[in-house]
Amino acid sequence: MFDVAIIGLGAAGYTAAVYTARYKLSTLIVGEDEGGMGVTAAEVGNWPGEIDIKGPDLMDNFKKHATSFENVTHKQARVESLKQKDGGFSITYQNGETDDAKTLIIATGSNKRHLGAPDEEKFSGKGVTYCATCDAFFYKGKDVAVLGGGDSAVEGAAIAAQVANKVYLIHRRNEFRAEPFWVDEVKKKDNVEYVLERNVTEILGDERVTGVKLDKEFNGSDTINVDGVFIEIGSIPSTALAEQLGCEIDERKHLKVGADMATSVPGVFAAGDVSSGSNYFAQFATAAGEGSIAGNSVFTFLQAEGSN
Ligand code: NAP
Repeated sequence: MFDVAIIGLGAAGYTAAVYTARYKLSTLIVGEDEGGMGVTAAEVGNWPGEIDIKGPDLMDNFKKHATSFENVTHKQARVESLKQKDGGFSITYQNGETDDAKTLIIATGSNKRHLGAPDEEKFSGKGVTYCATCDAFFYKGKDVAVLGGGDSAVEGAAIAAQVANKVYLIHRRNEFRAEPFWVDEVKKKDNVEYVLERNVTEILGDERVTGVKLDKEFNGSDTINVDGVFIEIGSIPSTALAEQLGCEIDERKHLKVGADMATSVPGVFAAGDVSSGSNYFAQFATAAGEGSIAGNSVFTFLQAEGSN
């Protein structure tokens, strides 16, 4: 039985593993997507100590650090279920295999929110994508739409504008919630057109996307012709596994945690985008901070239990 199982291979999970490893706890870190949401960041300019680093490179550094310890077991597998067992927890994978741990750190991150427009799912992968920074490269010389007004959308529009012919940044309000850094980056691009106070009501196309339909006319038409639609309208915390254990969810659908990152279930801690910590500010720095606190809390929890 591991002292701790960390579920999630993102910034929060890897940081937690560095801490639990240094506390000499036998640590399992497991998840499906190596690097989590971090690998989707094209340029990271706010990770202290690195003026500019690509998300995949940063996450590779996190993984290398966490797996440099002999007492860390790293697994890439889909966790199907979590259960209480013998005063600890049992983890069941998609292939039916299991692992047991005395404590858990849930660092399962979040999934991109879908728009809910007609034909959105039909065109998923055929012009509709949920990661502008990952997929913009495939739209070289084409016209694309980016939906949303947060960091993901505005950063996505800036990156897409480097390769696309034209980028329509479609946002439901007339101001952006994104970091001013990215708003300024977009302003520098002369191939980005702002389509503000508009919602996309339909994705248009036949075999592939050919455009979007708006709720209000823009430049005399309620449709915009594009080859790609990047939907960047936020994320939904991935709480399903923790909910199997009965962990409490807050009003914003995140796992409710205290300052020690403890959930409502003794022995279960949470960190990163899935948690209600750090004022819901989803950053590499906050994920790492929460991961370190969760690692420390597991250590003190096991000490209090007298089991390490
Ligand atoms: P977000 O901050 O939640 O922003 C979502 C955007 O989508 C908002 O502008 C919102 O509009 C809009 N929206 C939400 N639901 C919508 C709907 N049904 N129809 C149309 N528009 C809708 O999400 P995010 O940009 O993905 O960022 C998530 C977190 O990751 C944030 O904490 C962010 O700081 C972080 N992040 C950081 C970086 C970075 O540091 N480089 C990069 C990406 C993401 P309103 O503004 O009107 O609410």
